[in-house]
Amino acid sequence: MIIKASYSNSPVWRDVHVHSILPEELRPLEEIAHNLWWVWNEEAKDIFELLDYEEYEKCGKNPVALLQNLRTEKTEEIMNNPDLMARIGRVYQTYKEYISVPFDTERPSIAYFSMEYGLAHALKIYSGGLGILAGDYLKEASDSRVDMTAVGLLYRHGYFTQTLSVDGQQIANYEPQNFGSLPISQVLDENQKPIILEVPFHDRIIYSYVWKVSVGRIALYLMDTDLEHNSEFDRSITFQLYGGDWENRMKQEYLLGIGGVLLLKRLGIKKDVYHLNEGHAALISAQRLHDYVQEESLPFNVALEIVRASTLYTVHTPVPAGHDYFEESLIRKYMEPLVGRIGIPWYQFMDMGRDNPGSNEKFSMSVFALNTAQESNGVSKLHGKVSQEMFQPVWKGYFPQELHVGYVTNGVHLPTWTTSSVKRIYEKHLGEEFYRNQSDPKIWKRIYDISDEEIWGLRMHLKEKLIDYIKSEFVDGWLKNQAAPSRIITMLDEIRPGSLIIGFSRRFATYKRAHLLFSDLDRLSRILNNPERPVTIIFAGKAHPADGGGQALIKHIVEISRRPEFLGKIIFLENYDMRLAKRLVSGVDIWLNTPTRLQEASGTSGEKAIMNGVLNLSVLDGWWYEGYVEGAGWALTEKQTYENQAFQDELDASTLYAMLESEIIPLYYAHNSNGYSPQWVKYVKKSIAEIAPHYTTKRMMDDYFDRFYLKLAERSRRLAENNYAKAKEIVAWKEDTAAKWDRIEVLKLEFQPVQELDINNGNKRVYGEVIIDKKDIVADLGLECVVVDYDSNANKVTFIEKYEFDLVKTEGSRLFFQTREALNYPGTHQYALRVYPKNRDLPHRMDFAYVKWIS
Ligand SMILES: *Cc1c(COP(=O)(O)O)cnc(C)c1O
Repeated sequence: MIIKASYSNSPVWRDVHVHSILPEELRPLEEIAHNLWWVWNEEAKDIFELLDYEEYEKCGKNPVALLQNLRTEKTEEIMNNPDLMARIGRVYQTYKEYISVPFDTERPSIAYFSMEYGLAHALKIYSGGLGILAGDYLKEASDSRVDMTAVGLLYRHGYFTQTLSVDGQQIANYEPQNFGSLPISQVLDENQKPIILEVPFHDRIIYSYVWKVSVGRIALYLMDTDLEHNSEFDRSITFQLYGGDWENRMKQEYLLGIGGVLLLKRLGIKKDVYHLNEGHAALISAQRLHDYVQEESLPFNVALEIVRASTLYTVHTPVPAGHDYFEESLIRKYMEPLVGRIGIPWYQFMDMGRDNPGSNEKFSMSVFALNTAQESNGVSKLHGKVSQEMFQPVWKGYFPQELHVGYVTNGVHLPTWTTSSVKRIYEKHLGEEFYRNQSDPKIWKRIYDISDEEIWGLRMHLKEKLIDYIKSEFVDGWLKNQAAPSRIITMLDEIRPGSLIIGFSRRFATYKRAHLLFSDLDRLSRILNNPERPVTIIFAGKAHPADGGGQALIKHIVEISRRPEFLGKIIFLENYDMRLAKRLVSGVDIWLNTPTRLQEASGTSGEKAIMNGVLNLSVLDGWWYEGYVEGAGWALTEKQTYENQAFQDELDASTLYAMLESEIIPLYYAHNSNGYSPQWVKYVKKSIAEIAPHYTTKRMMDDYFDRFYLKLAERSRRLAENNYAKAKEIVAWKEDTAAKWDRIEVLKLEFQPVQELDINNGNKRVYGEVIIDKKDIVADLGLECVVVDYDSNANKVTFIEKYEFDLVKTEGSRLFFQTREALNYPGTHQYALRVYPKNRDLPHRMDFAYVKWIS
């Protein structure tokens, strides 16, 4: 027997989470920690900091983790501190009062679906703007007492965190989240066992846990497939946000859509309106169609009528390439069985996702969303127009301007995105009540009564906070990956609150043109290094791991920032997330945005900046196109001068330099004898007073009700009454019209649009007479003259105007039309006559876009 010196097999390490059990008196804290209400309530946040500041910092300002990690001595210390205990009591009281206010039952209820939600730094289920918007919207729903339930996915690894290698290469890190220490709770069944949702995929069931995030009064339910019941392969469906291949994306969208509807059913939740935040959620309509067909035994067309009447689709992507398109084979694999149960042939379903039915185009989630949603909108005024152009191919008989696609401009949740010191000033001068009336411009006029010194003092304070934050969060990292400490000291020395600080932070997609400022490095160096008027630019942002161009841009900026002349003048901060965003949008002087025109759907970071007294310098695109007010920030024109983008970039860059040199920097440094620039303060005040009230989520929420939710809820209720009588009637009418549409015959067409405008006569003679035989079509028909400019070389048709003919007589199936109207626009145009079916019960023409052109 040989006796070895040492002999052991390997242990299998198992997780054990040791949590502190809080004493009864501190239980309210646990309740508050598990409701994201604390995110926008300063007193609550203060309490968590006071409990154990170090630990709170260490666990990334996650109150749930903080409470789990509280040591016994700390707990005793807290309980022996009567002041702190009293504060806890007061916060709990405020929280309880807030939570106990019921929903506003006067307004329709909403189910909201989104792939991502940016709610709190600690809950990493967002990547950028789309998610932050959804998160802000839920918070607003809570504040506005909207009866909303939201659905999404819980990602094990969330979105990546960003670090940079020594040479500026982006490194994407995926850290697993410990769900046990997040501000979420697992949804249990009647027997206190975790609910396991069964989602039938094409050949198997995929199981999912369900988690609840309390966002004030609102519940957000998240699905998570990382459980043993699933194969390894399926467990990873919810590992990463926007990670994996197209097939995984397909599975995620299937889970969100199909699973999301099943989840609401399982929980017994029914809502009036279904709101799809981006096309990712489009498949909820497929499951809802299935349910109406299978559970209510409705014919497909009737089911479609009802689903459409209660669905709103919001598009966020201005370029077709940004939308999800799935290969037919892929979508077929997952969707064919469900489509079979819906009871329509496969090609019909496929065509619901195509611009050109009958073609072999890929399946577009956006087109499917459009075809299953009565209403649709872009996210700013300009983006609404862009979306009309983009979606026009779906409705071939109509022109972009005629489409029903509308807009609601994105806003931001004010209590989340303003810092505590800004909020204190608003509460002091605008009144405690201003949160409730935050979209009322009158209240904001009181900003003008605040002294210049107070505003300037606030700005300085926020800049110092940013600089402190940079020192505490980033310096260690710089020491690690940039070696020379002397360089870091130079850098830190250069970042001073007195300097003009410009912030540029956003996703590094090439269309955002972060490189614009670098087109003339000598000129830039002169601007930044003027000893009397120093300027610092801070960059931050992630590039999608698959976006080589975006990553190259980051590397380029980092390289430039390392040059001696730019040390401490150009700074790149790693890992742009909600926390850093809040510091930046409040702590710089200028928020810079230079998107390629028409590619910024809305953008919201500039709105956050405004609310913290930061001025915008931006291309007139997205929200700034409608938000800009002269003397309250700066704008680069929305007009594209050059077709060639490289020329345009050059022009924009030199405009930018010139504005900085001759206008912005001098304004900032025009200090008076009290050491501040009164002109600058004037800009700040005007920017808050005139712009802020229009870009809150409160205004946005109200717009959604006024423009979409109310009419959807009203019409879908009407369609469903008496066992769907109205829906069935409309379907019968549509089916009749569709079947017989080609029978329409023109019996007489005498139409001579006037050549000369006879202004004196009012143009009231008859210019045209048209007789149409509609045969046995039940529908009423309308006839209109459409005037366009037709460029036959470019095969481009531009809509100018249209006017309706009067139906003057009906004889059997023959309709007699006349018009007495003349064209309004002098010049050479083209025209054609358009016949369309008329029905008062339709929400708009695009709901049933049958058209017959006659000539
Ligand atoms: C607000 C915000 C965004 C969206 O802002 P854009 O103006 O669209 O860039 C993106 N990321 C984070 C972390 C944000 O806070």
